[in-house]
Amino acid sequence: ELSIHQYDPEIASQIDAESQRQEDHIELIASENYCSPAVMEAQGSSLTNKYAEGYPGKRYYGGCEHVDVIEQIAIDRAKALFGADYANVQPHSGSNANSAVFLALLQPNDTVLGMSLAHGGHLTHGATVNFSGRNYNAVQYGLDTETGLIDYEEVARLAREHKPKMIIAGFSAYSQVVDWQKFREIADEVGAYLMVDMAHIAGLVAAGVYPSPVQIADVTTTTTHKTLRGPRSGLILAKANEEIEKKLASAVFPGNQGGPLMHAIAAKAVCFKEAMSDEYKTYQQQVVKNAKAMAEVIQSRGYEIVSGGTENHLMLISLIKQGITGKEADKWLGDAHITVNKNAVPNDPKSPFVTSGIRIGTPAITTRGFSENDSRDLAGWICDVLDARGDEAVLATIRQKVAEICKKLPVYERNA
Ligand code: PLP
Repeated sequence: ELSIHQYDPEIASQIDAESQRQEDHIELIASENYCSPAVMEAQGSSLTNKYAEGYPGKRYYGGCEHVDVIEQIAIDRAKALFGADYANVQPHSGSNANSAVFLALLQPNDTVLGMSLAHGGHLTHGATVNFSGRNYNAVQYGLDTETGLIDYEEVARLAREHKPKMIIAGFSAYSQVVDWQKFREIADEVGAYLMVDMAHIAGLVAAGVYPSPVQIADVTTTTTHKTLRGPRSGLILAKANEEIEKKLASAVFPGNQGGPLMHAIAAKAVCFKEAMSDEYKTYQQQVVKNAKAMAEVIQSRGYEIVSGGTENHLMLISLIKQGITGKEADKWLGDAHITVNKNAVPNDPKSPFVTSGIRIGTPAITTRGFSENDSRDLAGWICDVLDARGDEAVLATIRQKVAEICKKLPVYERNA
């Protein structure tokens, strides 16, 4: 019985190094977070050994008496947390949740209408390189390039013209509040299903700080590892509709997956429990406060935020005016130990690998305890790095400040 450090030091040393990186760098990737030790413990448990094809009480394997209880608790908590009538906790990831919904509600080559990747949608919303754009006739809507807001008139026009069987709302890089009801009206007008992918904002929705799509959309999907702060995984929710519920269940298993990851399902259950607490509500409120505080400083320093600000946990900074590429900004900030990702902005003159913007989000810094003042300082450091075009002396100064605050606000030590 050797520990991973004894048996496989090559891997163990890299895990240790990654844990240290997470402590020592400021994480601003909007889709990342730090889950609790309890969530991690569930993921590292004996449940990883168990096969449980099927659903609670209807399994294809013996010995499921304990995992049945776990999965049922996860389902019940997901339904209660989000006010859903149906929950499927088996999708391994956000992309798997989405592909199961396509399988459940559509036939190959059916038309879908989703937000384009270049304007803040996700790959699985109809991108040509993805199953959703390859096996389906995907039509894409985008942002009004003047305002940076979703152009609902354009969505309605495209829906009337292409008569999609399903419309997809939801995003990976949009900093405003989506009008779910508007999407519902457009879907109803053309007789389409409405799927909402709330992956980015699920934690905000759970805490009631962002409008919930769950009783508006036919089906709502999410990841569980972003603002929601659970394990890396997926979830499908739906409002009451027996036919859709049946289709979703058989699309996830046996349609799209085999055995569920019971360790991840247990971790999701733990996360849903955490998400019901008052502390969690305060956390999600702080996520938005921190994002707004950062956006104000960034704008006051002359940098443009796409769509004019943020109402959620993220923002997209356009660097077109400054003549800086997203790739450069990402590299300079990385050298200052501030992790962001380059991101295309609407009408981006640069290629998707270079881009003219960066996306930043506050879920991870808020988990480690950043206040609004800390967030304002951080936004100032980001502007210092960008203003100085990555000048090494400035980077050295900022690295020092990053080290100090990371030491002051550790990610895991306080819980360990
Ligand atoms: N949906 C949205 C809106 C996302 O932003 C993402 C991930 O970035 C996904 C789905 C996919 O999730 P996963 O990476 O778990 O497949």
